[in-house]
Amino acid sequence: MDIYNTLQKYFGYDEFKEGQKTLIDGVLNGSDALGIMPTGGGKSLCYQLPAMLLPGVTIVVSPLISLMKDQVDSLDQIGIPSTFLNSTLSNIEFNKTLQDIRDNKYKLIYVAPERLDTFAFVNLMNSIEVSMIAIDEAHCISQWGHDFRPSYTQIPGFINSIENRPIVAAYTATATERVTAEIKNLLQLNNPIESLIGFDRPNLFYSVVKIGDKLNFLKEFIENDYRDKSGIIYCSTRKTVESLADKLNSLGYSVKAYHGGMTPNQREEAQNDFILDRINIIVATNAFGMGIDKPDVRFVVHYNMPQNMESYYQEAGRAGRDGENSHCVLMYSPADIVQQKLLIQNQTFSSARESLLYENLQYLIDYCHTNDCLRVKILEYFDEDVHYEKCNNCSNCLDESEMIDITLDSQKILSCIYRVGERYGVNLVTQVLRGSRNKRVLESGLDKVSTYGIMKDHSNEGIREIIMTLISRDYIHMTADRYPTLKLTKNSREVLNGEIEIHHKKDLVLAKKHNRKSTTADDIIENLDEDLFNQLKDLRYNIASEKKVAPFMIFHDATLREMASLFPIDRQSLLRVKGVGDKKYESFGKDFIGLIKDYVESKDIEVPETEKITRESLDERYINTYEFYKKGLSLEDIAKERSFTVSTIINHLVKCKEEGYNVNFDQFIDEEKESNILEVINKNGLESLRVIKDALPEDYTYDHINLCIAKNELK
Ligand code: ADP
Repeated sequence: MDIYNTLQKYFGYDEFKEGQKTLIDGVLNGSDALGIMPTGGGKSLCYQLPAMLLPGVTIVVSPLISLMKDQVDSLDQIGIPSTFLNSTLSNIEFNKTLQDIRDNKYKLIYVAPERLDTFAFVNLMNSIEVSMIAIDEAHCISQWGHDFRPSYTQIPGFINSIENRPIVAAYTATATERVTAEIKNLLQLNNPIESLIGFDRPNLFYSVVKIGDKLNFLKEFIENDYRDKSGIIYCSTRKTVESLADKLNSLGYSVKAYHGGMTPNQREEAQNDFILDRINIIVATNAFGMGIDKPDVRFVVHYNMPQNMESYYQEAGRAGRDGENSHCVLMYSPADIVQQKLLIQNQTFSSARESLLYENLQYLIDYCHTNDCLRVKILEYFDEDVHYEKCNNCSNCLDESEMIDITLDSQKILSCIYRVGERYGVNLVTQVLRGSRNKRVLESGLDKVSTYGIMKDHSNEGIREIIMTLISRDYIHMTADRYPTLKLTKNSREVLNGEIEIHHKKDLVLAKKHNRKSTTADDIIENLDEDLFNQLKDLRYNIASEKKVAPFMIFHDATLREMASLFPIDRQSLLRVKGVGDKKYESFGKDFIGLIKDYVESKDIEVPETEKITRESLDERYINTYEFYKKGLSLEDIAKERSFTVSTIINHLVKCKEEGYNVNFDQFIDEEKESNILEVINKNGLESLRVIKDALPEDYTYDHINLCIAKNELK
């Protein structure tokens, strides 16, 4: 069977996501593979699909037990025989599974890394045909990553202990260049096929919120946009988790706590309740999440700041795995910085590691204080080439706050820090500047310093905001100890001498709530019948409860939505719906068609003809673009007609050319530009588009560069 048939038959999809095909073709041709794809990018399918086409079994090494069970349950629903070996199995179950593996009953076997070096397991592996070893969360092998797991270092030894070396494929969502190099090296990947998909998660809306009353913010946030939706709220300590979960419960939300201090049973119960949609919100420490594959998490709020950008991105990335719009909020408060610094201080690290940890933390602090695009800031951390300055889908890009000059205020603050002898923290400095009659101020004689009361007209929050901004820009240093004090830095002088100007949002403290309407696929799918959608959800919930699996394992929301707008009432039209494959049709088709039929009849709805509901396939997409190209339209006009960007149109035309269509790019780029671009490419190579762009005059765009590459078939 070819890969497209397999994709349709088992998974119910008719197109691959970016990068999947390259990796799948690679391993099916016998190569090792390295897939770096963002969360929700579809990594699992990259080993599950080839597992069905390779002759032997595929071993999947995965770090978390709960993930294995979910995956095996999901695979069961689509007819792929799989199992797992981990410590949750009783002796009898374990031995039975070993026997079934020996009898070749499975195509996929999930194993915890701790199992790999056991004699019995290695023996078993040598008695069957192992075609591929897939390593999930491969970054866990790197000591530089944030998630190092010593048991992962056993993987290379395990691979070597198998007599006929199988194909080795590694997958991860988080990897900076350094971690990537380490994965390749430690796993001894042999000339792997690589696919590095950008880290961007366009469906995630990022925001940073600086607010005193966090609870009130949360209340409004959930009430306005996320009532009855699934969400995770991360807190840094068990205590905060407990107290926040209590507060939210008493406000009437359906919430459970999750942290390492709970018993395994309590944790499992909370996790299952969340996955099975019995509760909406989980309030958790960072102990929660790695094994959670729930696709429809609509928001992830960080009630406290995490330790670094990698952890933040991974945790926030648990929102919107299904590709639908979701919201990631980082709630900033200066106390969190102090707490994170203390955490670093209280552990023993080499000094190189310690300064790396501080550096990483600082990046996240800067993220909280930047006025620039949050997405760009994230992507730059992961060494991505970013081709835009604003994403228009984060709180900074949509923030319309007026900017004002705060140079004079900054000078006042810096000189106050100096006058009080660099011995006090944010609170006291603020009180002095505001001319407070506070006992401690008076007792310490701070009402005598020349800066006393010079910012009377400012609020506490306003002054604090400016101080934090100055810290993030390294004009003030805040010590990392239990009672942090403010000190000047070597850069403070530039501000004090008036050599630079500082600007900040006028709306200093209360960052405006973004006014973006939260769009969901409901807005995108025209013709969605809400009532039917809800009935389909109920049906799904009932089936899931009966089968004791999570609702999303039956069908994703997106699949139900498509049903509720296309009204499929026969086999053919139901199979066209994204996410419905043969096995799922067999298992649930009758129930869902039955419900839709009844609904359509009772409401006298005219069902669209089958032809009409065929989505524009990938190939049609290219051809439709080509039709406009043939009419002689400019790239901009084609983009307008087709509602795509110019760069997508260029991509479509490149695809058409590859397929043998006659495309002439000459008309879109002038000769002089082309020769200048080629010269730069000759010098710098094609590795980084940004390097090429930076070496060219300003009026050269990425589209020009892409056109030149396409025309000369350089890739
Ligand atoms: P990752 O492990 O990379 O975070 P998953 O493997 O969990 O991502 O896949 C994320 C979501 O994308 C899942 O809901 C999966 O069903 C869906 N998916 C995977 N491949 C495709 C595809 N080719 N077309 C549509 N959806 C897909």
